[in-house]
Amino acid sequence: MLTTNLLHADDGLDDGPSVSPSLHQSVNYIARDVKHLAEITAPMASEYYTRRGNPTSARLAKVIADLEGGETGMIFASGMGAIATTLMAFVQNGDHIVGQQSHYIGITEMLDKVLPRYGVTATRVDQTRVEAFERAIQPNTKLIVLETPVNPLLHLTDLRAVCDLAKSHGILTCCDSTFATSVNQRPMDFGVDIVLHSATKYIGGHHDLLAGSVTASRALVERIWDLSVTTGATAAPFNAWLALRGIRTLELRVLRQNETGLALARFLEEHPRVERVFYPGLPSHPQHELARRQMSGFGGLVTFDLKGGYSAGLAFIEKLRLAVYATSLGGVSSTVVQPAALFGNRLHDDVLVKQGITPGLIRFAAGIENTDDLIADVGQALGP
Ligand SMILES: *Cc1c(COP(=O)(O)O)cnc(C)c1O
Repeated sequence: MLTTNLLHADDGLDDGPSVSPSLHQSVNYIARDVKHLAEITAPMASEYYTRRGNPTSARLAKVIADLEGGETGMIFASGMGAIATTLMAFVQNGDHIVGQQSHYIGITEMLDKVLPRYGVTATRVDQTRVEAFERAIQPNTKLIVLETPVNPLLHLTDLRAVCDLAKSHGILTCCDSTFATSVNQRPMDFGVDIVLHSATKYIGGHHDLLAGSVTASRALVERIWDLSVTTGATAAPFNAWLALRGIRTLELRVLRQNETGLALARFLEEHPRVERVFYPGLPSHPQHELARRQMSGFGGLVTFDLKGGYSAGLAFIEKLRLAVYATSLGGVSSTVVQPAALFGNRLHDDVLVKQGITPGLIRFAAGIENTDDLIADVGQALGP
């Protein structure tokens, strides 16, 4: 069902005879006459000037909107292009945002540093506690920013509970659903207004493009589109085309990654060299019940804490033969990082530990390699 829709959601959008979608590598489009010119310059029309829209990007946006159960959407040059533009589109000087203690670093920067420069304040709360969101709401709160699951410990946010709360206060909600993917989680089913993805990750899925997506009602997307025309973080058509190719296999890849994620998490939880495993699919995850209510699969991201700390982490990564030592996630190849090493030169140890980034913490992002091969490799790298 899902993959069938993935392949057919954009049927009829492109009239050419090719089986593969056309790449509209064009900045501008020819108006037939003045009446047609009025049509193609309408908001979100995709055949006038590519900063305002592009047929290849529109096609990708339609496939994503179909997956998410949303009305429409648009594609950006990167996940951050989508997120920054969305946040800015709904606030002005004097407004307030509620966000989470843990977010993708770019969202944290927006909330803590960028928006305050323009008179927009933000309160970041413990996402695992609905009442913390409630307490943070002020009369001038315009937006609640959600992200679930989130780095580093794969905490979840109760989307239904927070969205009910937001609705009762007339506050808009947006959710970065990158880690979950549209296969494992549909935030709109729980009341989220705007769904954001870094398409760079699972949607693209092949480590070769940067893109971002927004899905929402037509009225909300138009408002974001309106600002995007000015900020110009529009996707390159070629990247949208690559992402369109990538997304056709999203379900196949994510189902494999779910299988590997769960098997790896179970394997690690039993392993004597592992202190603790963080994975929403394990009963030991403090929000496992919520994960089962809100997600249909638990993903390929597994975080775990090695006994032996920092040096054990370095040694483990060095011994891995399949997963590559690289940032990012969601592509066909498994990637592994040690968060303390990523942030080590920018933050003090106590700050890291407060965020749950212990020295021996490892983030393993499964690719689509064979599950047993990946587990055998992790096993040999952990040592006897
Ligand atoms: C990577 C990522 C982003 C940013 O996406 P880019 O495409 O790199 O700009 C935002 N949110 C999450 C959860 C991410 O993993």
